[in-house]
Amino acid sequence: MNIYPPLKKYFGFSQFKGLQEEVIKSILQKKNTFVIMPTGGGKSLCYQLPALMNTGTAIVISPLIALMKNQVDAIRGISDHEGVAHVLNSSLNKSEISQVKSDIENGITKLLYVAPESLIKEEYVNFLKNQTISFVAIDEAHCISEWGHDFRPEYRNLKHIIKQIDNVPVIGLTATATEKVQEDILKTLGISDATTFKASFNRPNLFYEVRPKTKDVEKDIIRFVKQRQGKSGIIYCLSRKKVEEISQVLQVNNIKAVPYHAGLDAKTRARHQDMFLMEDCDIVVATIAFGMGIDKPDVRFVIHHDIPKSLESYYQETGRAGRDDGEGYCLAFYAYKDIEKLEKFMASKPIAEQEIGHALLQEVVG
Ligand code: ADP
Ligand code: MG
Repeated sequence: MNIYPPLKKYFGFSQFKGLQEEVIKSILQKKNTFVIMPTGGGKSLCYQLPALMNTGTAIVISPLIALMKNQVDAIRGISDHEGVAHVLNSSLNKSEISQVKSDIENGITKLLYVAPESLIKEEYVNFLKNQTISFVAIDEAHCISEWGHDFRPEYRNLKHIIKQIDNVPVIGLTATATEKVQEDILKTLGISDATTFKASFNRPNLFYEVRPKTKDVEKDIIRFVKQRQGKSGIIYCLSRKKVEEISQVLQVNNIKAVPYHAGLDAKTRARHQDMFLMEDCDIVVATIAFGMGIDKPDVRFVIHHDIPKSLESYYQETGRAGRDDGEGYCLAFYAYKDIEKLEKFMASKPIAEQEIGHALLQEVVG
């Protein structure tokens, strides 16, 4: 099948990126498919294009409402019909829900984005059971694994819900590089037979430095940032308190920095994120609450004031640098004391989680 004309028609592209073509063919052949591509690799198109080509509705499961909305808007922009893509979640009122349902019943909706916690609802499952579903795509599939960097318990039950809906092909997509998480995804989704496509994870434009963390760490950071005046960077800290401290220290030193963490209200968070994207500030000092779905191509450095809790998190967080293939300097400050702090953090968690957390931390120390 020639899938170049629809690529051109829907997305305006003449070439596929990386493994996209092979992935899309596998999905069109109704095979269970597993896609591992780094962030920015073009995973969305892997399910969007076959969804647009197929009859019926593809269900896309994604953890972040903001990201789903962006994708729905983008797909509506390339189609004649509003109803081609919908989000199904708790924010819809009754009449919106019946609009979504009738668009699905009438075969208009090609992509239905659902948050995992909404898909659990019996009302929705019962409705979807009786519709033509082309496939189910699970984006950010690493959220299913406790070994990953962003575990979401709601992802755990997906296999059973998908089974209830229909016997449809399942597509898992992730930017997770570790084998352990990849195995976990296949097992937990029940798609051990999936055809797997794995892209290269090497990022030759990223430069990695680990520096001992001393009492002068703040001075070190200020010096590093001042040498890169006007350039965009992210500074990750473990705690909200540290985020506030470091952003104040930077501001006092005439560096345009804003804080970002889950303790700030949603409006402030959105404002600070926009300031960073629009270049009204140079630096975001953040907890790991910041980053997923942020697509700023020219982030020139990522600093870790505190060592991350796994190598996988470190790869994802530093991966936000240099997405335009330009310079990306990744600087981590390391002190064994921080490992002890993370260990202490974990002490309140269930034993199984502690064991996993401990093993991941030992990799970081190594
Ligand atoms: P991922 O989900 O893997 O992080 P996205 O799906 O967000 O990546 O895609 C990253 C970028 O690549 C987007 O800006 C998208 O428009 C672009 N892109 C995807 N496929 C192609 C293609 N075949 N040709 C050109 N650009 C593409
Ligand atoms: Mg994506």
